[in-house]
Amino acid sequence: MAKILVIAETNGANLTVPTCEVCQAASELANLLGESWRILVDHRAADTAGRIAPEVISYSQEGDAFSSPEILAKIAAKMIDTEGVVMAAATTSGKDMMGRLAQLLASPLAQDCTGFEMNSGDILFQRPMYGGKLVASVQLSGCPILVSFRPRSFTTISTSATLVAPSIHIKESILSKTTVKIRPRAGGERPDITEASVVVSGGRGLQGPENWYLLEDLLDSLGPNAALACSRPVSDENWRPHSEHVGQTGRAIAPDLYIAVGISGATQHVAGIAGAGCILAINKDPEAPIFKIADYGIVGDLFEVVPALTTAIRAG
Ligand code: FAD
Repeated sequence: MAKILVIAETNGANLTVPTCEVCQAASELANLLGESWRILVDHRAADTAGRIAPEVISYSQEGDAFSSPEILAKIAAKMIDTEGVVMAAATTSGKDMMGRLAQLLASPLAQDCTGFEMNSGDILFQRPMYGGKLVASVQLSGCPILVSFRPRSFTTISTSATLVAPSIHIKESILSKTTVKIRPRAGGERPDITEASVVVSGGRGLQGPENWYLLEDLLDSLGPNAALACSRPVSDENWRPHSEHVGQTGRAIAPDLYIAVGISGATQHVAGIAGAGCILAINKDPEAPIFKIADYGIVGDLFEVVPALTTAIRAG
């Protein structure tokens, strides 16, 4: 019987990218432990999951609506059998679901982890704390133990063309106190900021929402895997949606490249970009704190620098 269970998030027939990363974590941990792993997934994505995981449990819920974190936690709590480790992506809904599951199972939970290591047979999970200034090594006691992994902490697991994993299907009829409404995400076809490899982020230096076209043009020049983000005052002012707000009270992201435009670099903002591979800052103030953590900096007026950068990138 599988020892590790991944609880999947899906987009219709596909697993989300953060879930594919958690599958990679499960596969790595399973190898280290000499155990197997399996995945619990909405039946619409069972075929996709069967080309990634060695074993699949698919479920359908009465009415066939997409499951809320509440329903998914209840389904998972029923299914968990001999699993020692249960994993999910530390997305907003993933963390919501794992909190509920921990309560239902009375199990210990480490949220928003970025990795793990083995130490004399114990699993230690790495968990950034205090805005990324410290990384705690967390050991959980109990069975099962629950962990959610921050998006982009692992590579995406590869899909096998030949693997068709054994699968069991369960039908559930769970009453829910919550109703899920699916709304199109701001940003349309663009990836979520936690999944994008390049993030262009604007601060109060942009002066108003009418100037965001500058960042959108830059974004378009960078290709389809780039997304827009912002500082907190920008979302507080409703210039941009709250889902784009990065930082201590916003979202933690780890793109390969973060371009901070007109952002001062307050500690609360920087807390959300500790995992970025490379930071480029554009600011007219050479003393702006963002330059202390930036890998590259351009001191200048963003209204001149950003269009020039966009033109240069387009010119190749
Ligand atoms: P500002 O600090 O106003 O900086 C604007 C920058 O733009 C300046 O550096 C300026 O030099 C530059 N600029 C202006 N005009 C131009 C131009 N024409 N060309 C180039 N550069 C220009 N903030 C977050 O972002 N995320 C959080 O999660 C967060 N959480 C918080 C939690 C708490 C409890 C508190 C107290 C604060 C939090 N904040 C957070 C707010 C944070 O402290 C800062 O106030 C905020 O990050 C500043 O946003 P900003 O850099 O966009 O604006």
